[in-house]
Amino acid sequence: MNDFLFRSMSREQKAVERARKAFLTGRSQSLEYRITQLKNLLRFIRERQKEIAEGLKKDLRRSECGTPLYETLGLENEINLAVRNLKEWAAPRPVSKSMMTISDQVYIQPEPLGVVLVIGAWNYPWAVTIGPLIGAIAAGNAAVIKPSEELYPVVTGGVTETQELLKQRFDHIFYTGNGTVGKIIMEAAAKHLTPTTLELGGKSPCYIDSNCDLAIACRRVAWGKFLNCGQTCIAPDYILCEPSMQDRVIEELKKNIKDFYTEDPTKCLDYGRIINQRHFKRLMALLEGSTIAVGGENNESDCYIGPTILRDVKPDAKVMQEEIFGPLLPILTVSGADEAIKFINQREKPLALYIFSSDDKLIKRMIAETSSGGVVANDCLMHFSVSSLPFGGVGNSGMGCYHGKHGFDNLSHLRGCLIKKLKMENVNKMRYPPHTVDKLGWARFFILKHVDFGSLGRMMLLALMVIFAAVIVQAPNSMEFNMALSNALCAFTADMAYTESKVNLNIPLWNEEVKLVLRLETCFDETV
Ligand code: NAD
Repeated sequence: MNDFLFRSMSREQKAVERARKAFLTGRSQSLEYRITQLKNLLRFIRERQKEIAEGLKKDLRRSECGTPLYETLGLENEINLAVRNLKEWAAPRPVSKSMMTISDQVYIQPEPLGVVLVIGAWNYPWAVTIGPLIGAIAAGNAAVIKPSEELYPVVTGGVTETQELLKQRFDHIFYTGNGTVGKIIMEAAAKHLTPTTLELGGKSPCYIDSNCDLAIACRRVAWGKFLNCGQTCIAPDYILCEPSMQDRVIEELKKNIKDFYTEDPTKCLDYGRIINQRHFKRLMALLEGSTIAVGGENNESDCYIGPTILRDVKPDAKVMQEEIFGPLLPILTVSGADEAIKFINQREKPLALYIFSSDDKLIKRMIAETSSGGVVANDCLMHFSVSSLPFGGVGNSGMGCYHGKHGFDNLSHLRGCLIKKLKMENVNKMRYPPHTVDKLGWARFFILKHVDFGSLGRMMLLALMVIFAAVIVQAPNSMEFNMALSNALCAFTADMAYTESKVNLNIPLWNEEVKLVLRLETCFDETV
C-alpha cells in the first residue's frame, strides 16, 4: 500500500491496516515472540497497577484493593498460565485413528486466525479487554483493542469509532457487552463472514434450597451481588426460594450487607457507585412497583444506590424484565426446586446459575435439567477465577468462551491435518471404480470400525494388520475369498451384534418425492 492511500484512511482503518501488516510479517507466529509479548503485558500491568486502580476509583469508586483483587490479579494469573503452557497448547494434537488412517499422521494443528478485534465493556474494563487479548496473543494473532502500538493497537472512542472499526475486515471479533449491541456486532461480522465471540449478560438466577446453611449461603450471595455495586455480568440477578425462607434470607442478607459495608455504605470505601446517571435512572425506574425490604437509599448526584433487597417480587415486575446490572436484589418465591427449574427454563438461558443446597443429588439434578453459560453450586462468581473452566454464555447470554486454554483455542483455528504416504495403494482399491460388492464389504469394514487402542485392542489390531497384509500380498481376486475373509475378520474383532431395521424415507428431489424403504444392517458392534 502506498503512503498516499494510507494517509487518506480513517484512524480505525489505519489501526487495522497496521495490525494486518504486522501479522503478515509472520512474527507473531513464533512462540518466543508470543511469550515475550505476554511478559511485556504482565510487566505493564504490574508497573501501572496504581494508575489502573486510581482510574477505576474515579469511574466506579472501586477501592484500592478491589481492582487488584477482582481484575488484575486474575489477569496476571492468566498470563502466567499462558506463558507456562503455551508450548503444549500450540503443539500438534494427535487424534484417534481409524483403520483407514492407521498408518497416517492425523492431528489438529492450532494456528492463528489473523487480526482479532477486542471490544470491551466498562464494568471490569481491564478484565474484559486484556483477558481476551491474552488469548489472542497466546494464539499468535494480531489484535486491535477497543476500550479505552503496532501489533496490538488501541483505538479509543465510543459508538462512532466502534462502528467505523466494525466496517473493517477482521479474522475474529471478541465482544463483551450487552446483547443489543451484540446483534449489531454480529451483523457487521456477517458482512465479512467473521467468527465472533459474544460475552453478553442476562439474568443469572440464584436458587436457595431449604436444605442449606442459610447464613453461609447469604454471605456468599451478598458478596457476589453487591461487589462493584452489582455491575458484574455474572452477579446473581435474583433469588428464588420457598416462601417460608424469605424472611430469614432477608435477615441474613441484611446482616452481611452491614458486615461488609457498615451501617452507612455511602461512607464505606469498599462500596462502589453506579457508572453514570443514565444507568442510575434506569435502575431507579426498575424499582417501580416492587416492595423494598432493605435499602433503597439513593443519591443521583453521587450515582449512589445502596444495597437493596426487594421482597415478594412477581415474575411480571419491571425489575424482572431486564438484566439488573446494579445493587437491586429481588426475591421471588417458588414452591421448591421443581418450580425453580421450570421458572429458569421458561426464560432466556442465563450467563450463570447459582444453586445453594446441601443436597448433592439436587445440585446435579438442577444442572442436568437447566442450561446456562456456567453454573456454581454453593458460591457465586468463583467459576470466573478457575482458568481451566471455559467462561462464556449460551443462547442469549452469548457464544464462545475464554480463560486459559479455552481462550487460546477460541482464538485459534483448530486445523485438521491428515498426512498420508504415497504407499499402501492396495488399501485404496476399495474406493476406486469400478465399484463392486466385495470392495463395498471391505469399505464397510474399514469405515465403520471404530478402534479402541486399549492394550487388548492394540494386540488385536496388530493381528488384524498382519492378516490384512497377507491378503494384500496374495492379492486374491476371488470374491468368495474376500467375503469369507471379511466375515472371518468380523467374527474375530466384533461381538457380531447384528441388528436389522427398516426405515421409511421420503426424500424430496426437485419436483418429485422419492419414497424409499431402507433396510439398515449393522453387522459390526462399535467396539473391538
Ligand atoms: P458498553 O456500553 O461499554 O458497551 C460495550 C461496547 O460496545 C463498548 O466498547 C461500546 O463502545 C460498544 N458499543 C456500544 N454501543 C454500540 C453501537 N451502537 N455500535 C457499536 N458498538 C457499540 O457496555 P454495556 O453493554 O453497558 O455493558 C454491560 C453489559 O455487558 C451487561 O449486559 C453485562 O452483563 C455485559 N457484560 C458481560 C461480560 C461477560 O464476560 N459476559 C462482562 C462484562 C459485561
